[in-house]
Amino acid sequence: MKNLSRRKFLASSVRAALFGAYAINNTSTANAQATPWSNWSGGQTCQPAGRHDIASEDQLIDILKSTSGPIRPIGSGHSFSPLIPTDGHLVVIDQLSGILDYDSSTMQATLGAGSRLGDLGPALAAIGQGMFNLPDIDRQTVAGATATGTHGTGITFKSLAGYITALRLVTPRGEVLDIDVSDGDLFDAARVNVGALGVVTRIRLQNREAYKLKKREWTAPTEDILADFDALAANHRHFEIFPLVYSDYSMVLSIDESDEPIGQTIIPAEEVTLADLRPLGVDASPPEKLAMNNALAANTEVSEAVDLSYKLLSNVRNNRFNEMEYSVPATVGAECVREILKTIYDQAIEVAFPLEYRYVSPEAPWLSMAYGDEPHATISIHRTAREDYRPYFDIIEPIFWKYGGRPHWGKIHSLGQRELSQLYPRFRDFMEIRESLDPNGRLLNAHLKHLFIA
Ligand SMILES: Cc1cc2nc3c(=O)[nH]c(=O)nc-3n(C[C@H](O)[C@H](O)[C@H](O)COP(=O)(O)OP(=O)(O)OC[C@H]3O[C@@H](n4cnc5c(N)ncnc54)[C@H](O)[C@@H]3O)c2cc1C
Repeated sequence: MKNLSRRKFLASSVRAALFGAYAINNTSTANAQATPWSNWSGGQTCQPAGRHDIASEDQLIDILKSTSGPIRPIGSGHSFSPLIPTDGHLVVIDQLSGILDYDSSTMQATLGAGSRLGDLGPALAAIGQGMFNLPDIDRQTVAGATATGTHGTGITFKSLAGYITALRLVTPRGEVLDIDVSDGDLFDAARVNVGALGVVTRIRLQNREAYKLKKREWTAPTEDILADFDALAANHRHFEIFPLVYSDYSMVLSIDESDEPIGQTIIPAEEVTLADLRPLGVDASPPEKLAMNNALAANTEVSEAVDLSYKLLSNVRNNRFNEMEYSVPATVGAECVREILKTIYDQAIEVAFPLEYRYVSPEAPWLSMAYGDEPHATISIHRTAREDYRPYFDIIEPIFWKYGGRPHWGKIHSLGQRELSQLYPRFRDFMEIRESLDPNGRLLNAHLKHLFIA
């Protein structure tokens, strides 16, 4: 086997699994065309009766009143779970986008609900504002991302919905509700709404002044990092790891504010020679994989980049996959990660993707994965889109349950209303508000009925 550089190792493992060029396969079309719909991974599809690409709230109200049967608002289709599929109507809000108004003294901006996070970065920077945090990618709409409790990493950072200061909701009956903190329970229900309360048309976000960040990536022994995770998370603005499977190593990522000039460097390290390691066949045993991966991961280079915040907080993901993600109390996060890695190894599960392990600050929206008073660790597992994810996810999901895990609404899980109401303390209150806003259940597809109907 030829020498393999550290850079090539990253390119061929973690990055090959997760990073790369990006394309969207879900697009809005002309009004009310009954074109098939599919999500980003291709794992969810439907043939709706109509797809309505609305340009105004008045048009939305007309559609809600003039159509009958189920109706689902859609964002950019980046959820893995079946939140969208319906044979009823889809409402596309792409045209409700951009910065509608802003206040430089409070650092708040009101955004069209269909704005893509990635488009908001430069637009907000142009008015001197930046979002506090972003998820792993930035192709989602602001309404879609907040609806599912989408989060980034950072012990001091809430999910995106935690930064909502006001939103406008058009209910299935066509009422227009402007909701903010003065609305109490309704505000905490509506910020993470799973698309089950109405159609959000605009969102006001608390931002901060525009800023630059420095990102560092390297590999390190997983146990060393887990043992020190709380301190590392406290010492860096953002900190997370991608624990490699069949390996004692993780890819580690830290991001901190920086005044350094914009640029990127790779800190070179010695080449690692793999001549003594025999190539791995598809049926390599777990110990063989472990030896190989450890040799490679022990010798990767450090990469650093300084750039505007929105350019470094999110990544580009090329290879399509399906994902399951649960949050567990941060106090048991490391234990949960260890058990998942051990299960993959012991059961020789054929998977290449690393796990992803992040912290999220406690917050108030009722259906947030980090609802409550304690920080939560979120843990993700992935499967390529061309493979059946069920056998793998079915083995790992009970491990999340064992640690009190709460599922991400936009990712694969198998829980129903009974289990969810035990995990989310205000779940039944959310069900009541949902019932009051949509008594006829127009927004419910089969999956949402499973979640919200007793
Ligand atoms: C590659 C990839 C990386 C990801 N990384 C992360 C991550 O780092 N962190 C994380 O937490 N999640 C992550 N996710 C999950 C993703 O952020 C969520 O699933 C998000 O909800 C997708 O947003 P969307 O705009 O595509 O919404 P969709 O998936 O289209 O819709 C999601 C929900 O929002 C509702 N909705 C959409 N628009 C409206 C509206 N106007 N009014 C009311 N409800 C509405 C829909 O009905 C649906 O229930 C990732 C997903 C992918 C594919």
